[in-house]
Amino acid sequence: MFKRIVWFRNDLRIYDNPALNHAAADKQAVLGVYFICRKMLNDHAVAPVRIDFIQRNLMLLAKDLEKLNIPLVIISVNETGDIIPHFQTLIAEHKVEALFLNAEYPLDEFNRDKLVSETLRNEGLIVKRFHDRVIIPPGMVRNGKGEAYQVFTAFKNNWLLQARALPLQPLGKPAKQVAHSLSTPDAQAIKKLFADLESRDLSALWPAGEKEAIKRLDFFIENAISNYQVARDIPSLEGTSTLSPYLAVGAISVRQALATVLHASQGWDSGNQGVTTWISELIWREFYQHLVVDFPRVCKFRPMQAYTEVFPWRHDATLFGAWCEGKTGIPIVDAAMLQLKATGWMHNRLRMVVAMFLTKNLQIDWRMGESYFMSQLIDGDFAANNGGWQWSASTGTDAAPYFRIFNPVSQSQRFDPEGIFIRRYLPMLANLSNKEIHSPTHCENYPAPIVDLSTSRKETIALFAALKNMKSV
Ligand SMILES: Cc1cc2nc3c(=O)[nH]c(=O)nc-3n(C[C@H](O)[C@H](O)[C@H](O)COP(=O)(O)OP(=O)(O)OC[C@H]3O[C@@H](n4cnc5c(N)ncnc54)[C@H](O)[C@@H]3O)c2cc1C
Repeated sequence: MFKRIVWFRNDLRIYDNPALNHAAADKQAVLGVYFICRKMLNDHAVAPVRIDFIQRNLMLLAKDLEKLNIPLVIISVNETGDIIPHFQTLIAEHKVEALFLNAEYPLDEFNRDKLVSETLRNEGLIVKRFHDRVIIPPGMVRNGKGEAYQVFTAFKNNWLLQARALPLQPLGKPAKQVAHSLSTPDAQAIKKLFADLESRDLSALWPAGEKEAIKRLDFFIENAISNYQVARDIPSLEGTSTLSPYLAVGAISVRQALATVLHASQGWDSGNQGVTTWISELIWREFYQHLVVDFPRVCKFRPMQAYTEVFPWRHDATLFGAWCEGKTGIPIVDAAMLQLKATGWMHNRLRMVVAMFLTKNLQIDWRMGESYFMSQLIDGDFAANNGGWQWSASTGTDAAPYFRIFNPVSQSQRFDPEGIFIRRYLPMLANLSNKEIHSPTHCENYPAPIVDLSTSRKETIALFAALKNMKSV
């Protein structure tokens, strides 16, 4: 008999997990459930490396839950519609009274949760939904007219005012439940459930679990946060937290990450530039999560800025293929794309550089880049990825202005001046001088640039300007 079910999704942890914590509070016997939904994984182009990461996090979660006497049932379904009958069976079998879940904001996930919740509520189940993915829930950061902010700085100021007034005390570990006889799947059983999904094991680079997330956070606080405002732009350094895969899968909560940093830096007013800049990045993350709720059209392949709907993006498979494979002839772009392939992750500065190059120099549809990133990233997160792509393509709200196009060679000279990062991924350029390496000429085994940076830049600006003019006529 389990009176309560916790439906796990991108919250694969036991600490500071609102749905789990509340469900377990009065020890009424809790059952954990996770659905592997094939159609959603496929439709959302979830990367094999992320699928493997989810699987490994589930293995650890199952063990941690077992110690709390909470069994985890993992069910593989073809599509979201199959979820309801499975819930109905579990509810009838165990006389379940309530379902606890943490909210997910992208449209497909939101609609799935709405359908499941409404159906089960109509059948008498209590459904409790918590906000976990963000520090301040969507809908709570509003301007004087009660509207959503579309400019980051205004959002950030309001967000900070509210967040500073919050206790931000993480919830800790949930209560242990009474003993039961249901067995929890072991690692082999979980592996079997994932067996026919394409997955890629990068566990040496990205160990799973809550402990690993905390370890990375502590290391970052001790070694890098105080210089984050400078080092975060240098891809050859370990200047950032590398927490994104853990935040994306929910192995750590954003509250816990922020609370730990604030504790270490003795509050909001430490005056430490590194801490302030890092918190600002967390707020960018929240900004994009809120935008997905306020402007669900971004979940339907639509740009935020309506006038860019008709931009004549190209769909050139050869140029796109060269970009994906790191064969554009622009070393910083190629090294970045090879980092993505090798590690399932890319440095933030480089994500902006390669996204601008794809959209502004190759004029390729940002949605092709967005989808390719999702198919490769271990930290793939719809809101952050869509926000990053729309920012780079100048189709987003408070995006890079269309006429301010990064020159990838200048970015390379500025942020990888000695070519340390480039040499790591492009050994054929290793012997070039610090000057030559950013824009090599006639180098054996390395392609010539696939596009003229200057001409393509001008063309793109002209295309955007023409659209802007049409809008104002
Ligand atoms: C085109 C593009 C696509 C992106 N796709 C994703 C994605 O799918 N998933 C993802 O988590 N991030 C994405 N980002 C944001 C950012 O690049 C990564 O979050 C960051 O590189 C992760 O490294 P870190 O954990 O060391 O970050 P840190 O610098 O340590 O920052 C801490 C955390 O803040 C958040 N964050 C930092 N920068 C941003 C940002 N610009 N936007 C939103 N959140 C941010 C992340 O959760 C990150 O883990 C994308 C950015 C661009 C430009």
